[in-house]
Amino acid sequence: MDASSLAVLDERIADCRACPRLVAWREEVARTKRAAFADWTYWGRPVPGFGPADARLLVVGLAPAAHGGNRTGRMFTGDRSGDVLYEALYDVGLASQPTSVTADDGLELYGVRVTSPVHCAPPANRPTPGERDTCRPWLVQELRLLRPTLRAAVVLGAFGWQAALPAFDAAGWSVTRPRPAFAHGTRVSLDGLELFGCFHVSQRNTFTGKLTPAMLREVLTSAAAAAELPTHRS
Ligand code: SF4
Repeated sequence: MDASSLAVLDERIADCRACPRLVAWREEVARTKRAAFADWTYWGRPVPGFGPADARLLVVGLAPAAHGGNRTGRMFTGDRSGDVLYEALYDVGLASQPTSVTADDGLELYGVRVTSPVHCAPPANRPTPGERDTCRPWLVQELRLLRPTLRAAVVLGAFGWQAALPAFDAAGWSVTRPRPAFAHGTRVSLDGLELFGCFHVSQRNTFTGKLTPAMLREVLTSAAAAAELPTHRS
């Protein structure tokens, strides 16, 4: 794959149709919609990463949500998981506003990019291993383009961790074997990149208190410090 810049890469990702099951699902969801969003024209395509091309910190999820990113066309935008994530980024000082509602709502991220190892919304939020592997080259290319500035990454959840670590490895950061296990709060030093594990910002985790607002802010603050990004606490 040859994508000379992140903007070109993002455009190419948005046109991808490599996974038949996910193409069918994302487009069916876009046609049938959720009643609350009946007036929307859903994006219904792969959702590229969001944030500046010279980001120092990367937040890695798993895949867009059917009625969130798949509806709005922007990562973690328009669903409860995104509400939690962007409010925390704002509180820490890494986002211009606490809400993320539409792709043109003016939200800016400061030195942070948000992406995922799978760019299409999967049924039941669960891509197959084959789909995860098919999508990996997009993340590898994104990581290679970010590599000159990237100093830290927060990976949300064990599935994202398992999907992302091989991509970091393929992009040039050597990851030890056996690969480090996921845990909330875990911190792994690669050569020149600090990798942080954090429970996913899913409703299941935030409603049950498995991931509290304080826990999320603590990981983001540590990662921002590792990336040498200014925060409200620094
Ligand atoms: S999941 Fe990734 S590889 Fe599969 S169709 Fe979507 S963008 Fe393409």
